[in-house]
Amino acid sequence: MREPRHAVEQARKCDVEGCSRDAERSISGKKVEKAGLSIADPTQSAHLCKEHYKEFKKVTKKDRTLERLGW
Ligand SMILES: [Zn+2]
Repeated sequence: MREPRHAVEQARKCDVEGCSRDAERSISGKKVEKAGLSIADPTQSAHLCKEHYKEFKKVTKKDRTLERLGW
């Protein structure tokens, strides 16, 4: 799996459609899409603002619980 470079992103905006807050985190676009957030290009790493990152984390946490139950 390709890791995004950990360079500090400067003045990036959140990639979620309709959001114009400053991005705080860079996440794999595929994971973001899976979490139900709408981004322009899921093949690229997506930049999320604080609020969308929180949402992303909430959803992925739920996902993990479901996966564990499915085992
Ligand atoms: Zn956002």
